[in-house]
Amino acid sequence: MNDDPRQGFSSWIEIDEAALRSNLRSFRQRLRPEVLLQIVVKSNAYGHGLEEVAAISAAAGADLFGVHTIEEAERLARLALGRPILILGYLARAQARRAVAVGAEVTVYNGATLEALSAAATAAGRTVRCHVKVETGVQRQGILREHLDGFLDRMAALPGLVLAGVSTHFANIEDTTDHSYARGQLVLFSELAALVRARAPHAIRHCACSAAVLTMPESSFEMVRVGISLYGLWPSKETLLSCLLDHGTTAPLVPVMTWKARIAQVKQVPGGSFIGYGCTYRATRPTRLAVLPIGYADGYDRRLSGIGHVLVGGRRAAVLGRVCMNILMVDVTDIPEAALEGEAVLLGRQGTEEVSAAQIAAQCNTIPYEIVSRIAPHIPRILVNREGRGPAGPDPTT
Ligand SMILES: *Cc1c(COP(=O)(O)O)cnc(C)c1O
Repeated sequence: MNDDPRQGFSSWIEIDEAALRSNLRSFRQRLRPEVLLQIVVKSNAYGHGLEEVAAISAAAGADLFGVHTIEEAERLARLALGRPILILGYLARAQARRAVAVGAEVTVYNGATLEALSAAATAAGRTVRCHVKVETGVQRQGILREHLDGFLDRMAALPGLVLAGVSTHFANIEDTTDHSYARGQLVLFSELAALVRARAPHAIRHCACSAAVLTMPESSFEMVRVGISLYGLWPSKETLLSCLLDHGTTAPLVPVMTWKARIAQVKQVPGGSFIGYGCTYRATRPTRLAVLPIGYADGYDRRLSGIGHVLVGGRRAAVLGRVCMNILMVDVTDIPEAALEGEAVLLGRQGTEEVSAAQIAAQCNTIPYEIVSRIAPHIPRILVNREGRGPAGPDPTT
């Protein structure tokens, strides 16, 4: 009898609890002790599993959680982790009551939203903590400087709203080692934040994402919002380089996710065989194939067709032909250990080999954020490396 939940799945994602805790601790240590550490868990915790990541992070010292939507806030609130939840994305007016009901803090930058929130809070006999988002140069969410005073006046006139914070977001910090644009944003943010603090002296200032914490310590203010690097990933090569250039060291980030699948068939096909849809690949020799039960619908990027690698027996096995919706084929001709239901690693380490999110991102012409956050939520997340406790995850039979 084996109660390892992985036994019952043909693909799963292992979440390394110790790695997550270690990354969190490493951020904690970079920050002045009084700085609040907001852990960003939007998009299913960047594909790592919202509930799983939130529970571990709360126990490891997260001060607050950042989500994008009201739905994510509601899922988190159900866990009753005792940490504030900040909705970073847009809250539709029709969702104001729900935000009040779960006690979420809200990012605000539209007058109409303020009115809906005030009405919902007043009706419930409660208050809502609001974080005013100011525009400093991304031209995404946020209120322009010339509208800020009017917005704050409007807010002050509405009952039930607490001016709890002021925030902004960097446009050009991950993509370059030249942080002059980010420094310009920081100067403007400081000015706008001062206007907010003239009305609410304790308003929390926050603008730093992972890359800012790693490369511009002066951007931390009273709170930082860390996402990608909590999961052990560098936001970009440029961030890693900046860290080295400016500080002479990097941060000890440990990837948290390993995506695995069980081999669904191993077979020998003759030289000259076409492999996969569109006959885009033709074997130049007798080839031993492993068929894996994962495809683009599961979040394995179709752009990896013909160029990706998975790990089998601690070695790289090339993706042959096109990635299908739920299936892909890899070359195990030189990997005799490949066997039916043996483990293949799609993303992560096996032995001394690694297929990293950064490598996959480079092959797909994108960023690691997209690679991990698009892994489908239906793939079970299994907690491993849990200080002596066995792996934990959903029951495959339910
Ligand atoms: C996603 C997000 C973050 C986290 O950014 P990372 O680069 O993943 O650390 C911070 N702030 C806002 C507003 C975000 O949307």
